[in-house]
Amino acid sequence: MTDVNTLGEFGLIEHLTQRFPLRQPGSVKGVGDDAAVIDNQNLFTVVSTDMLVEGIHFDLAYTPLKHLGYKSVAVNLSDIYAMNAFPKQILVAIAISSKYSVEALEELYDGIRTACAHYGVDLVGGDTTSSPKGMTLSITAIGQCEPELLTYRNGAKPGDLICITGDLGAAYLGLQILEREKKIWLEHPELQPNLENSQYVIERQLKPEARKDVIEVFRKIQLKPTAMMDISDGLSSDIFHICKQSGTGALLEETGVPIRPDVQLQAIEFRLDPITCALSGGEDYELLFTIDPKDVDKIKYLPDIYIAGEMLNAADGVKLHTKGGKLHELKAQGWRHF
Ligand code: ADP
Ligand code: MG
Repeated sequence: MTDVNTLGEFGLIEHLTQRFPLRQPGSVKGVGDDAAVIDNQNLFTVVSTDMLVEGIHFDLAYTPLKHLGYKSVAVNLSDIYAMNAFPKQILVAIAISSKYSVEALEELYDGIRTACAHYGVDLVGGDTTSSPKGMTLSITAIGQCEPELLTYRNGAKPGDLICITGDLGAAYLGLQILEREKKIWLEHPELQPNLENSQYVIERQLKPEARKDVIEVFRKIQLKPTAMMDISDGLSSDIFHICKQSGTGALLEETGVPIRPDVQLQAIEFRLDPITCALSGGEDYELLFTIDPKDVDKIKYLPDIYIAGEMLNAADGVKLHTKGGKLHELKAQGWRHF
């Protein structure tokens, strides 16, 4: 264990950021000067920032630092993709208490580096400071987009189709399993965690991916969604955001909400309704978007994109048509940290 004080602040920054090659032609100046310099040419700049606090947003009892680094970057980039834009650079600011060694920070930056390589973004700056307790991690992502392709939450119209990528509910179940095993471990430290058959849901919780691939497909098939956001709080609260901002209602079909069969089984083992995990779970980082019905042929045969309903007039409210044929009024209950 190497105390961070042996390197000093500047030594630590240099050490942590040395193996971050610049890949983007727009990254004119990266780490090392007073500020980074980015060439954006004629494109609009899209910026988003996220702050993660130990004990509130992550629990190091079951989150390896490498995964924390990877996830922090991925969820940030997810916000940029959700604008139909491509992220190019990130800045990483960390506040750390003395319990973190150089090796621990290397693990964190390993995860950050893996994510940068996977998504092709450059680390171009940040800040490093001390904290009286725990760790706070703040990541800012910078992306770009042709002005006419930017996709906001407010563009959906009644009659537009609601689409969802990937599958929902797994990250929430992964969290339930990790929390359960943590509790057991605290009471019986001699027991090995029982994570059998839970690999997929745990990976979805610890190592989510941003849907860069979907945005690349949109470009290829020349589809511009009418509205889009990433599903971070749960489908129910996120569809509400689109409805509120677009001035519409929505009808979701339970049969159209993608939930993997093995995830459904695990939800039932936990005495949870699978659709509840998808509606209220959160942290799936899939994309929720709406399209003009005339574009339906463009996505009909695409794998991993599912049509899950239709936008309605605002007066019709936000409803779920269940498998049993009932209509439920949805509530905007997302994942709440407070
Ligand atoms: P200043 O004191 O002027 O804020 P710093 O010494 O904090 O400058 O930073 C020097 C350089 O290192 C800057 O380019 C900054 O963006 C970068 N940097 C600082 N901390 C980090 C970090 N944790 N990760 C990545 N880059 C960092
Ligand atoms: Mg600074």
